[in-house]
Amino acid sequence: MATQSVRCPIFGFRCNRGHVFDAPKMGDFEWGEFLAYGALQSVAFINSWIDPVWNEAASLVDEVSPDLRSRSRGSSVEGDIVQAVYSATLDPGPAGPLAIGPPPCPVCGLKGVVDQESTPNRWQDVPHASHTAWLSMDRGAKLGIVSEVVARATT
Ligand SMILES: [Zn+2]
Repeated sequence: MATQSVRCPIFGFRCNRGHVFDAPKMGDFEWGEFLAYGALQSVAFINSWIDPVWNEAASLVDEVSPDLRSRSRGSSVEGDIVQAVYSATLDPGPAGPLAIGPPPCPVCGLKGVVDQESTPNRWQDVPHASHTAWLSMDRGAKLGIVSEVVARATT
């Protein structure tokens, strides 16, 4: 799985300070598929339908905070927390941690939004995300990480 890559369209992005940069982006209708971004334009592809760590992340959230997901069901909070916990299971990119969400600006680090004037006409091969460090952790260490992320996401 780690050796495969996925062809993603490159979009133009713009941060709040006006820097313009390129980054690959999933289409808006690719349910369950995400890109995780890090510093220096590192990026990894995630398919939550086939990655067992996605369900593991969701069930660890339930364990740490039993009614959190049911209370927030259907709201963006539920998905945001699972995405944040899942992001913590990813191996870091060459320049630091990766996280699901908008790509950070390579100049200032602010999150970028798609520049609506640009159209995708270029492509980038994005490698699959991996979880080497996460998969070698014991249950206690995993629960510790999940507790921290949930605490941060809910305060
Ligand atoms: Zn910027």
